[in-house]
Amino acid sequence: MNKKHIILFGAPGAGKGTQAKLLMNKRSFVQISTGEILRNEVKAGTELGKKVKEIMESGKLVSDELIIDILRNAVERLPENIAGIIYDGFPRTVPQAEALEKMLAENKEEITACIKLEVPFKELEKRLLQRAEKEGRKDDNAETIKKRFQEYLQKTDPIKEYFIEKDKFYVVNGIGSIEEIHKRLLEVIDNL
Ligand code: AMP
Repeated sequence: MNKKHIILFGAPGAGKGTQAKLLMNKRSFVQISTGEILRNEVKAGTELGKKVKEIMESGKLVSDELIIDILRNAVERLPENIAGIIYDGFPRTVPQAEALEKMLAENKEEITACIKLEVPFKELEKRLLQRAEKEGRKDDNAETIKKRFQEYLQKTDPIKEYFIEKDKFYVVNGIGSIEEIHKRLLEVIDNL
C-alpha cells in the first residue's frame, strides 16, 4: 500500500500540531513539524539554530531553500513501514509545495491531500495568546502574532488554490473540542 502524505494546513494556532499528534497515535502516521525541528535547533544552539532564531522570533518565514533541505532530511530519516506522513507547518509557500511534490515523485509517491483546519482569526489570536502563557513560545506575543498572520495571508494562503486545482483540498471545521476535531479529520483521512 502506498503511504499517505497528508498536509495539515491552517493559520498559526489552528491546532495543526495537536491534531497531528493525535493522528500519530491512532493511525501510525509520523508527524513532521518544521517549526518543532527549528525550535529544537534553536534550543540546542546549532549553526542552523543561530541562523533562524531571529527570523522565527520576528514572526517571519525562514527561506524556502533552508526549509526544503530540512524537510528532505527529516523524510529521509523515517522508517519504511509507516502508514503515512502528516506534514505540520509545511509547506508554507507554493514553491515549498512544489518542492515536496517533486521530492515525492522521485519515489513514485504523491501528496494525498491538503486538509485545512478552519478557524476564524479572532479565535486564533485568543488561542495563541493562551498558548504563550502555557508554553512560553517567544513568537506567541501580540506583535509577532500580527506578523505571522500577515505572512500566512500573503505567502501561505495561496497554497489553497494550488491544491484546489489538483482536487486535493479539504476543509475541516477547527472549532470545537480536540476530540471532535480529531473525529472530523479521521472521517476525511479514512476516505482518501
Ligand atoms: P510553527 O511552529 O509551524 O508555527 O513555526 C514556527 C516558525 O518557524 C514560523 O513562524 C517560521 O519562522 C518557521 N517555520 C516553520 N515552518 C516553516 C516553513 N515551512 N517555512 C518557513 N518557515 C517556517
